[in-house]
Amino acid sequence: MKQYQMFIGGQWVDATDGEIIETTNPYSGEVWATIPRGRAEDAERAVQAAQAAFTSGAWPKLTASARGQLMRKLGDLIAENAELLAKTEVTDNGKLINEMLGQVKYLPQYFYYFGGMADKIEGAVIPIDKPDTFNFTRLEPLGVCVAITAWNSPLLLAVNKLAPGLAAGNTFVLKPSEYTSASALEFAKLVEKAGFPPGVINVVTGLGQEVGEPLVTHKLVKKIAFTGSEFGGQRIYESAAKDFKRVTLELGGKSANIVFADANLDNAVKGAIGGIYAASGQTCVAGSRLLVQRSIYDRFVERVVEFAKTAKLGDPMDVGTQVGPVTTPPQFQKILDYIDIARGEGGECLLGGKKATGPNLGAGRFVEPTIFGAVHNRMRIAQEEVFGPILACIPFDDEDEAVQIANDSNYALAAGVWTENMRRGLIMSQRLEAGMVWVNMYRAVSYMSPFGGHKRSGVGHENGMSAVMEYLQTKSVWISTGLETPDPFVLR
Ligand code: NAD
Repeated sequence: MKQYQMFIGGQWVDATDGEIIETTNPYSGEVWATIPRGRAEDAERAVQAAQAAFTSGAWPKLTASARGQLMRKLGDLIAENAELLAKTEVTDNGKLINEMLGQVKYLPQYFYYFGGMADKIEGAVIPIDKPDTFNFTRLEPLGVCVAITAWNSPLLLAVNKLAPGLAAGNTFVLKPSEYTSASALEFAKLVEKAGFPPGVINVVTGLGQEVGEPLVTHKLVKKIAFTGSEFGGQRIYESAAKDFKRVTLELGGKSANIVFADANLDNAVKGAIGGIYAASGQTCVAGSRLLVQRSIYDRFVERVVEFAKTAKLGDPMDVGTQVGPVTTPPQFQKILDYIDIARGEGGECLLGGKKATGPNLGAGRFVEPTIFGAVHNRMRIAQEEVFGPILACIPFDDEDEAVQIANDSNYALAAGVWTENMRRGLIMSQRLEAGMVWVNMYRAVSYMSPFGGHKRSGVGHENGMSAVMEYLQTKSVWISTGLETPDPFVLR
């Protein structure tokens, strides 16, 4: 059994009171490691370490180029250790090894891209309209940033925050999900090896209320970057408002994957399947509402059902597995509850609809790939995030109705459009309320392209050049070049 410690101020430490949380392998159901159960005292230690690293020591003295170099070194170390990190994630969250290895191998690119940006953060000289005055702007880091992440893609979600934030010169306290903290602690070993000054990146573990909340409410913390549920995001937004802290919130979704009759239907079937069953539906951008044009609705949904029947459930470490277990017990129960809710609302269960049974299902925390037809968009199964392998199919007649149904949601994270008509693809991308729209593809992300939702899906963006601005503040500096100060009673 592995026994992890937290990483605070460059030291490996237990929780102050020595308490631990057992972390379970979702596939086998076995406890495979322990992590410290941090509390307010540990949050305090971590914030103080991050504040000290921000204000003194080597980090603020580093040139921006040297900062970028350090980040690139961390990227190299992640590449060298990708297999270990990916296997740690699979052991902790039960997602497929193919998916996690793909994600982890991609992470170095974030440190290369944003590391390269560190020495390109420039202010401007303003051609100011006041005589005898020189005015320029500086883009400055905020200070201590807290990154809080969900369990579904632990390192990717952390790196989305750390890479732009470090490029900007901030320091961090990372609090991963209590269900999947191990990979962040493995990552911290690489931070140490790369030679980051102590306190620049701290990792504390524990429960949201016990260690997350003291971090979020800490007076020295300047920014919170959060990925998680709408409920968690709302609490954080409210508490951040008390101190006017900066926030980015990456929350849930109920994304519409829209198939027009003129689509390449072979590709669209794969798009529908990938939209909901990749990651067993435990992905914020899951295309959990499948909108299909009425003229092809029956035939298309039948094809999706037939394809979904072939999905191979099993050990997530096995490269042949396509659908893995559900990560957490509460999530498992929630998915089963939503199946009951959908049935109760009159949804027609076309496939699945219960806990999966059979060989190679480990401790059995699997849900059958499930498809509901005859769904109306006002039903709960079409309005609420399930975060599991449950697809709700809804017919529509034309573009206008597709837009009306897709936008009739509290969420606005992602959307997919399947059509061979690029005029339609483009128009739909404009009309859909979503932070990301994919046309004839689904579930693609890049460090270069902004990622984030609108409405109740979140605030602000990660990735892309502008992500660095989420971690910077502007200062305007005025210098008088005149020999005399003019009338002091008049605004200059
Ligand atoms: P969650 O809100 O329960 O927990 C997320 C994190 O917040 C955890 O680390 C948790 O410990 C912490 N937390 C909880 N309460 C807190 C509090 N009061 N103060 C501080 N921290 C607190 O979410 P989850 O169940 O881990 O994740 C699933 C959710 O995440 C889904 O809604 C999913 O859509 C969303 N998600 C969104 C994105 C995105 O980029 N938009 C990506 C992945 C997951």
